[in-house]
Amino acid sequence: MSRLPPVSFEFFPPRDAEGRARLINNVAAKLGVLNPHFFSVTYGAGGSTRDGTRQTVVDLKAAGFDAAPHLSMGNDDIPAVKQTLDDYAAQGINRIVALRGDQPSGVGSNRFANNAQALVELIREHSGKQFHLEVAAYPETHPDAKSAAADLDHFKRKVDAGADSAITQYFYNVDAFENFLNRCAQANISLPIIPGIMPITNLASLVRFSDKCGADIPRWLRYVLIDLENDEQATIEFGVEVMTRVCEQLISLGVPGLHFYTLNRWGATTRICENLG
Ligand code: FAD
Repeated sequence: MSRLPPVSFEFFPPRDAEGRARLINNVAAKLGVLNPHFFSVTYGAGGSTRDGTRQTVVDLKAAGFDAAPHLSMGNDDIPAVKQTLDDYAAQGINRIVALRGDQPSGVGSNRFANNAQALVELIREHSGKQFHLEVAAYPETHPDAKSAAADLDHFKRKVDAGADSAITQYFYNVDAFENFLNRCAQANISLPIIPGIMPITNLASLVRFSDKCGADIPRWLRYVLIDLENDEQATIEFGVEVMTRVCEQLISLGVPGLHFYTLNRWGATTRICENLG
């Protein structure tokens, strides 16, 4: 019997039609064997990938996969967001990952508010229950937050505004995730919270991403990865082993799903899922 809970896979939109075709025919097809709940497609800084995100989602749907666009507040004003929502509804899309977007690059001057709660409210007001709404959660606390308590309070308000489930920022400390779940329970936040999983394949890019988004790389992990830095294959093998163990711990906590940040690659994600049965 499979131990794997439902999985979802995140892509970023390729630059052009050729890249999209490669992503769908190669990467999505390979990951599709794992029967994902859905693929999600990120929305670039300041709305820069608006067309690419839409087209990638439309192409994924045409290839027979469930696909969810990320929608960050980017540089859009309210009419532009409403237009996007209507377009997605017309395309038969029924799930959106609603986000504020990274600052300052992810939030342009036309933005109508400064937090994702306002976007969730707008989507519910304009589109009712048309979309299953995913929002972001931060087990290790969002880097802009004044305190962990303030961040949890903002998360609760965003959830109460109409989110259906949450996907977390990636983390390597399962204790941080477990503690976050406990704090959510104490705050009467009861929606499904799906851990975000970042496979480890390259130290330099992992450090770059993690510094930006506030994900902690434990000291022991960083040091082993430094030792392996010039050996790509050994890094990948070690990363698969570490993330398999992290996912096993998460599964034993009873998580409702696993969301993989694939970086448009299928190899490490597939191996972790296969290890999990
Ligand atoms: P919010 O929930 O608005 O929180 C942002 C900060 O504001 C937090 O510190 C919070 O405590 C604070 N805050 C919230 N409400 C209030 C309030 N009322 N008053 C004062 N402070 C408040 N970025 C992209 O640009 N494109 C993507 O596609 C993308 N996909 C992502 C997917 C996932 C699963 C995750 C976890 C993140 C993703 N991000 C993406 C990154 C995300 O946009 C950034 O982390 C961003 O800085 C915060 O977005 P949010 O939706 O969590 O914001």
